[in-house]
Amino acid sequence: MPTPPFDDPAAAGSVCATALAGAIRGCRICAGRFAATATAHEPRPVVWFRPAARLLIAGQAPGARVHASGRPFTDPSGDRLRDWTGLSEAAFYDLDRVAVVPMAFCFPGYDAKGADLPPPPVCAREWRGRVMAAMPGLRLVLAVGGAAQRWHLGTGNVTQAVAEWRDHAARGIWPLPHPSWRNTGWLKRNPWFGAELVPALRQAVRDVMEDGQ
Ligand code: SF4
Repeated sequence: MPTPPFDDPAAAGSVCATALAGAIRGCRICAGRFAATATAHEPRPVVWFRPAARLLIAGQAPGARVHASGRPFTDPSGDRLRDWTGLSEAAFYDLDRVAVVPMAFCFPGYDAKGADLPPPPVCAREWRGRVMAAMPGLRLVLAVGGAAQRWHLGTGNVTQAVAEWRDHAARGIWPLPHPSWRNTGWLKRNPWFGAELVPALRQAVRDVMEDGQ
């Protein structure tokens, strides 16, 4: 493993990102918060990024299935998101091109109605700026759900942000609703999403993924 000083900035960035990923994997900031939930689980950060990433999927937080698998979007939401983006499983999990960095790295637990709790804000405060800085080649960001849109776009109004997708996409940030089954009604009420946004998104993703740079 190279040691400082680095002649090659890319190698230095890679080592920094590796150290950062390791620090996040060891993070236990929310241990008390998670222990107090009905599942009383321990933190299990799902860390999925490398410095070479060109496409970032910025989601909410892992659900229970992803908490168990340790791999992002191994659930029906992931199937729907892959369909929206046109990415095969192999491309979606290609760490040298795609990063999956949610607003919290750990499963937050359930609320009283059995829905996932929101991502603990402390996670983005602690880690997100540094993770973003560790991926200098990002060209496309998919901001999935209100929490990611608040951070990347400064607005948490999902319907409005997604309706204005053309303006945001021009800056390389695509606001998307969360692909959870809970949003199936939203998708039916907004048929332009599937008819207009999804085909344009697939093209944008294809352009970035296939670019030989
Ligand atoms: S959610 Fe984030 S801040 Fe909380 S324990 Fe997991 S990695 Fe740490």
